[in-house]
Amino acid sequence: MLKLIGSEGTIMFQNRESALSLVKEAVGASRKAQTLWLSRSYADRADSLLEIRDYISVHAEELTECISRTTGKTRIDAVSTEVLSTAMAISFYATEARKVLHRKRISGGGILTINKMSYLERVPFGIIGIISPWNYPFAIPFHEIAMALIMGNGVILKVASQTREVGVAIKKAVEVGGLPDGLFSLVDLPGTLAGDAFINGGIDKLFFTGSVAVGKELMAKAAPRLLPLSLELGGNDAMIVCDDADLTRAANGALWAGMSNAGQSCAAVERIYVLAPVYERFLDLLKKKMARLRVGEDTRFDVEIGSLTTDEQYAKVKELLDDAREKGALLHTYAEVPQSGRFIAPTIVENATSDMRLTNEEIFGPVVAVGKVASDDEAVSAANHSFLGLTASVWSRNSARAESIASRLQVGSVMINDHLMSHGLAETPWGGFKESGIGRTHGHLGLEEMTQPRVIVKDILPFVKRNMWWYPHDERIYRGLLGALRFLYPANLAQRLRGGIQLIKVFARTFTDE
Ligand code: NAP
Repeated sequence: MLKLIGSEGTIMFQNRESALSLVKEAVGASRKAQTLWLSRSYADRADSLLEIRDYISVHAEELTECISRTTGKTRIDAVSTEVLSTAMAISFYATEARKVLHRKRISGGGILTINKMSYLERVPFGIIGIISPWNYPFAIPFHEIAMALIMGNGVILKVASQTREVGVAIKKAVEVGGLPDGLFSLVDLPGTLAGDAFINGGIDKLFFTGSVAVGKELMAKAAPRLLPLSLELGGNDAMIVCDDADLTRAANGALWAGMSNAGQSCAAVERIYVLAPVYERFLDLLKKKMARLRVGEDTRFDVEIGSLTTDEQYAKVKELLDDAREKGALLHTYAEVPQSGRFIAPTIVENATSDMRLTNEEIFGPVVAVGKVASDDEAVSAANHSFLGLTASVWSRNSARAESIASRLQVGSVMINDHLMSHGLAETPWGGFKESGIGRTHGHLGLEEMTQPRVIVKDILPFVKRNMWWYPHDERIYRGLLGALRFLYPANLAQRLRGGIQLIKVFARTFTDE
């Protein structure tokens, strides 16, 4: 049986001591169970993951409804970006992790160390702590749970208070995998207590996804313990539309990646830079398409945009829009919005300037700012003008041009002729430059982050009695080592010859014990 400590809908742990002892207890149980888990074969661990995936497939509608009810996102958003993508990710990790765990030969040594053979193996950290946000409350933690488990770790999970019900659904799904008792725990803690409790409660690495401010706070708190942490933080993503782009595809893509999940995605399109020759045509298309979006509660699959998830986000989006309006931006809003609830009409912002908050801050709502640029260079520099660097996209029919722009963008991943969906490609590492975070999740890099590298260096010539530089020391050894250096990296041929002779003289001692 797995553990849910605390109770659904209530915060039981109101003080630091009880929060800390809750996490310590969970870590203790997980550590015991992890020994058992690691003793299972890879195939057994993968089977457990696949059982969980199959449960998700069977219960997909129930899970989708739970996510939609808890967050306000539409069921199509929930099933596509959370349930389906999680099932695909679990399948990928269950098969792919074997390659990452496989011991690898390290090659490339020089002639002087020819008797050494080295390997790299990956060692699970032990107990992984995961603190996850409310915007993708199922997919984000589940990717990390799957990666941590398959690499041989135990997991302690804390989900956002807003989405506790989804946390309970995750726990139920994980239970199906038949993990050793206590290996996985869901702890019910408020964020204000979770940081200290996780960091001091004995976990071996923390995976945090959330705001930049909390990420920085956690990094400072982790420093005294040198606790490793992975931070997946905010984004303020740019999309560059070149003058040779397929404008219909670009407008459709901008709509989906800007409005999906009501714009509450870390990698949502927020700033669109369009090359001048196609600016008007692109804007026109975007406006026409945006005008067709329907906003409201998803009862009959007849809306594209659901509600914002929290009152705080709702208030913040309104604030950023007011700020832009007051500073002279032109706001085009579309769709009838229900009077009650946290619904925001899809909005295009024109004439955004660098002093506006929405240009500089992440805006977690169905809002895109569109601006005109004169050249590819200007587009790149505008896109890079942000303290965040999560993802970006380039839209062009010319592959070489798009790739050249992509490689100049200061972000963790760039999509060409698409945006945002690469979070659902379990094989591609995910993470940001600048204040968007540290470390990578997903893909081989993400799997590696669940482990520490251990190098094994083996001497393969047992009849060699000692290395050249071992004791006893005398001047001959000093000259021999200088000789080795000059033999390998000579200024001229004579130096190489002299160095070689000195090296041979001292090399002979490696076979004797005089
Ligand atoms: P948040 O306030 O930082 O909360 C995220 C998680 O951290 C929640 O579980 C929260 O718990 C917990 N938390 C809050 N304060 C904490 C503290 N002092 N110590 C430890 N944990 C704490 O972020 P959010 O507003 O919910 O999430 C939105 C942010 O996440 C956006 O900036 C978005 O871009 C970012 N995000 C990034 C990625 C990515 O992959 N890079 C993905 C998704 C979201 P409570 O709910 O109990 O407060």
